[in-house]
Amino acid sequence: MNILILGSGGREHALAWATLQNPKCDKLIVAPGNAGIALIAECARLDIEDGNAVAEFAGENAIDLVIVGPEAPLAAGVADRLRDAGFAVFGPSAAAARLEASKSFTKEICDAAQAPTAAYGHFTDAEAAKAHVRAEGAPIVVKADGLAAGKGVIIAESVDEACAAIEDMFGGSFGAAGAEVVIEEFMTGEEASFFVLVDGETCLPVGTAQDHKRVGEGDTGPNTGGMGAYSPAPVMTPEVTQRALDEIVRPTMAEMARRGTPYQGVLYVGLMIEDGAPRLVEYNVRFGDPECQVLMMRLGAQALDLMQAAAEGRLAEAQVTWADDHAMTVVLAARGYPGAYEKGSVIKGLDALPEDSFHMTFHAGTTTKDGAVTASGGRVLNATARGATLAEAQARAYALVDAIDWPEGFCRRDIGWRAL
Ligand code: AMP
Repeated sequence: MNILILGSGGREHALAWATLQNPKCDKLIVAPGNAGIALIAECARLDIEDGNAVAEFAGENAIDLVIVGPEAPLAAGVADRLRDAGFAVFGPSAAAARLEASKSFTKEICDAAQAPTAAYGHFTDAEAAKAHVRAEGAPIVVKADGLAAGKGVIIAESVDEACAAIEDMFGGSFGAAGAEVVIEEFMTGEEASFFVLVDGETCLPVGTAQDHKRVGEGDTGPNTGGMGAYSPAPVMTPEVTQRALDEIVRPTMAEMARRGTPYQGVLYVGLMIEDGAPRLVEYNVRFGDPECQVLMMRLGAQALDLMQAAAEGRLAEAQVTWADDHAMTVVLAARGYPGAYEKGSVIKGLDALPEDSFHMTFHAGTTTKDGAVTASGGRVLNATARGATLAEAQARAYALVDAIDWPEGFCRRDIGWRAL
């Protein structure tokens, strides 16, 4: 098979790495890729949000399967354009990608499917939204309806804070994403991420994870894209997992199919679990980054078979083979992230790192300059390892971190603390 992966982060490096484990893969192209991906696959320059350009490129390169990493091309309809042109695609249509692109749409689907989630109100004007907040009291959650790069959610501790957030959103601080606002009940409990492959009809779980959003140890400081993750999530017991499938995932996927917009790809199910009962926090329409890195580490070569089965509507006959293992990834970021940071510092020691089915250092934001690997983003590397226990995976991941020579970088030293 000739495979094209769209994206350029640690998630896509992990997808590429797992794809290459599978002997079915004859040729792999990643667009646009990064310096780490370039070491294992061909990288191509391509505007990945331009469906026509991607379809033309896929045709020229006799691509058999396109795997879409990030959400932006999905929301832009790239999967639709590719499917219309006859390509097998792993990733939902623009209509189904609204499960991430519009929070009010997801709430409406949950209502129709009777899936448990936070109570909410949906508003197109600030006065009505503020009246709702005053009636409900705090804490309360204010969300910009559209895609806001993970920044459009304000957990307000007071009515005043919630009203200020509402003013802010309708005032345009999140652009078009904030023209509509969803106000939600504040849910308590433990969060976990649950990943399910869907082929329009069949839902196949492919693992659970927990991530660390805050920049500082002990989960303190500002939010980031994610400073580390591990899989499985202990809170996702077999009972909780079954309830999440039966009460949330299957009913919402059936509702999407009933509306003529069946979902196909990976569904990232963000859950809040309290007293063994899961409730939906959010859906994302792609793998999480860095959660994908730990899932790929655990799935290995079979990831390609599973993604292909989802793309071709054959998940009913697919099966996941689980080793009784654990994986962890530690994000190395540029000093200053998630605020201002420098680009261009040189990273040494990467050549000597072990790379096997227990260790892999994925690149998230790197480029090669004069033969040296340099940092080109906020989150730069993902030291990822697998073990028989989470403690073993953690020890291996931090051994990778300690062997990397990059004084301009930092990481959290406590990834996995909750589970350990
Ligand atoms: P979202 O972008 O909807 O996932 O929200 C980002 C984060 O905000 C989530 O991962 C939760 O930690 C938190 N959050 C969102 N909605 C709620 C809610 N209704 N109750 C409590 N926490 C929430």
